[in-house]
Amino acid sequence: MQNNHNKEHLYKILVIGDLGVGKTSIIKRYVHHNFSPNYRATIGVDFALKVLNWDQETVRLQLWDIAGQERFGNMTRVYYREAVGAFIVFDVTRPASFEAVTKWKEDLDSKLSLANGKHVATVLLANKCDQGQDVLTNNGIKMEQFCQDNGFVGWFETSAKENINIDEAANCLVKHIIASE
Ligand code: GDP
Ligand code: MG
Repeated sequence: MQNNHNKEHLYKILVIGDLGVGKTSIIKRYVHHNFSPNYRATIGVDFALKVLNWDQETVRLQLWDIAGQERFGNMTRVYYREAVGAFIVFDVTRPASFEAVTKWKEDLDSKLSLANGKHVATVLLANKCDQGQDVLTNNGIKMEQFCQDNGFVGWFETSAKENINIDEAANCLVKHIIASE
């Protein structure tokens, strides 16, 4: 009998960035299609699974939410282990959360790399774009250049609240993960 099994991929994806930037909200929007304005700082490690059909293949994204430990500004190697991609999130209304982005990227790259020695694909998310305040534009920061300089494969203005660009950002990340396999 012919083997008709579709190829399946399971990818561990990290969602990191400062407290309150919207990491949990982005995951909830992407996976559970909802948004809650009530602040709830999760404690411990949370996972959510998103299943995508990708060119006749099945992609399972296991999204890891850092859940309360982000206040220390770094994570353990054990936490990062075996991830193949990451989102680094900041809040466009909070300049300090953007300043922290390079620190998160350095923490990630110093503790995790792919089997081939390369850094994992990372997409930058400028979240809460529905708020109409943009620390980047206000500070004249050129995002394309910033991404090149800091090793991001792309960036998106997102809103978990209004459901803007989250699917697009995830597709961009998956595309780069598959390309680097
Ligand atoms: P985390 O600490 O990074 O996980 O952030 P949360 O997901 O808990 O979000 C922190 C706060 O920002 C909550 O009150 C959310 O409702 C709010 N929030 C998250 N994403 C957005 C967004 O896209 N737009 C707006 N306006 N608020 C958001
Ligand atoms: Mg959270």
